[in-house]
Amino acid sequence: MTRPVAIVGAGPTGLMLACELGLQGIGAVVLERSPEQGRHSYAMGFHARTAELLDQRGLLDAFLPETPTWRGNHFALFPLDMDQLDGPQPFTVAAPQRRVEQVLDERARELGVPIRRGHEVVGLTQDTDSVRLRVRSGSEEYDLTASYVVACDGGRSTVSELAGISSGGTPPTVSTLVADVTGFDTERDLVSMGLHPRGQFAAIMTEPGVLRIMATEFGADPASDAPVTLESVIDCVRRVTGAEIKVSEPRALYRIDDATRLAESYRSGRVFVAGDAAHAHYPMGGQAMDTGIQDAVNLGWKLAAQVQGWAPPELLDTYESERRPAGQRVCDNTRAQLALMVPPERVGPLREVLTGLLELPDVHRHLLGLVTAVGTRYGRDGDHPLVGTRLVDGVVARAEGDTPLAHLTRSGRGLYLDLSGGTADTETAARWAHRVETHAAEPVGDAAADKILGVLVRPDGHIAHVSTAEDAPGVLETALARWFGQADHR
Ligand SMILES: Cc1cc2nc3c(=O)[nH]c(=O)nc-3n(C[C@H](O)[C@H](O)[C@H](O)COP(=O)(O)OP(=O)(O)OC[C@H]3O[C@@H](n4cnc5c(N)ncnc54)[C@H](O)[C@@H]3O)c2cc1C
Repeated sequence: MTRPVAIVGAGPTGLMLACELGLQGIGAVVLERSPEQGRHSYAMGFHARTAELLDQRGLLDAFLPETPTWRGNHFALFPLDMDQLDGPQPFTVAAPQRRVEQVLDERARELGVPIRRGHEVVGLTQDTDSVRLRVRSGSEEYDLTASYVVACDGGRSTVSELAGISSGGTPPTVSTLVADVTGFDTERDLVSMGLHPRGQFAAIMTEPGVLRIMATEFGADPASDAPVTLESVIDCVRRVTGAEIKVSEPRALYRIDDATRLAESYRSGRVFVAGDAAHAHYPMGGQAMDTGIQDAVNLGWKLAAQVQGWAPPELLDTYESERRPAGQRVCDNTRAQLALMVPPERVGPLREVLTGLLELPDVHRHLLGLVTAVGTRYGRDGDHPLVGTRLVDGVVARAEGDTPLAHLTRSGRGLYLDLSGGTADTETAARWAHRVETHAAEPVGDAAADKILGVLVRPDGHIAHVSTAEDAPGVLETALARWFGQADHR
């Protein structure tokens, strides 16, 4: 039996993709090497764009209101004011990775996607029709054939290597010692983040009862493989800050570095890469889990369309043309942030300049858009400026009545929002009613000022087309066909 899609890896990326494919009714399967769900949380939370995407699928409610949210953010440790972020979720949700995986795992299973834990992919061959995976489970091995495979198998992706997808990048220049501890005294202002002449120090609660200590000593050997012990972390904090921290009961001790890597291609034949398998960078500002989840939401509906046989030509290619630049942006912005911190004796003037620039609202919003990914735009040159931007409540449009816009996207279908009060070409949109729902909505901001008649929205919540009174005949039809295939001729 040939599976339509095999997802390798049940981290946040693979599980989000499983949810997206399950929502579209695709018979996917997830293969995960570890016999059990991981207990350790690397990522400590997710940013505004991921919150919006989860809300679009009805998954944000699993986190809010119980999970704490942060109204603060930073770029190279310069505070960013989240009040300048438009949209319904101007905050970071402090949900540890383990919790995110739990929520996505449950949802994927509810949607009928099996997650085979303890199944490791050890081989891969592909031809023009399918991909054959060699899978090891305990002492057994078996073959699994799928029409498409998505490598969501993390930073040391075996699957991309087997598929011949190479990566380019930069070697490490700094390394950070990390200790997650449960023995600490919160009363003693431990929770902090700061730049010091000799390095960088952060102490952050990753989840109730767990404090993460991160210490980076500038000039230390970035390629060191000396074992990380609690003592070595405490010593490093002393050298960097001069302070003596009292922590004990380490849960996890490890080293991270700023080696940066981006896949040269996000696709090789029938194999795609997503998440850390496609991009790896220093976890500055915690953007990695977000980028993987956003890859999954971008790819899910397109791959589903391909499997269901209605994908317009080149739809699947837009995964790489849209998400590889997004991966590049994250790699670049994390490197830029480090370059604004190291070496400390040279970055002072640069930081002074940025302090001044951040007073300009456009600069501030641009950086917020980068680190939260709300600024991600998938438009092409010559498109209307709103094309490719995200559609969320209060940005471009607001749903009529009490229903938030996010609720309209929960089915995973496209949307045509009639913002005209009755003059938009809803008849044309109705010819795609099998894939695109039409709803009335109210224009907001520029959309109201520019008298936009309607917006066509993709299943991932990005605007595909903007209808205006100046449109030439047939442009809406062309846009619908470009993103949603043939009209229903019944
Ligand atoms: C110290 C540290 C702090 C971080 N902090 C943050 C943060 O604050 N915010 C943030 O967004 N990100 C952070 N990250 C990064 C974040 O953890 C990753 O981006 C995220 O886990 C990537 O998700 P993924 O699903 O792409 O890959 P992974 O989570 O790595 O999942 C890959 C899965 O594939 C499985 N697998 C691997 N090989 C195979 C195989 N051959 N067959 C079957 N299964 C396989 C693995 O067991 C694993 O479960 C941090 C990382 C580190 C190291």
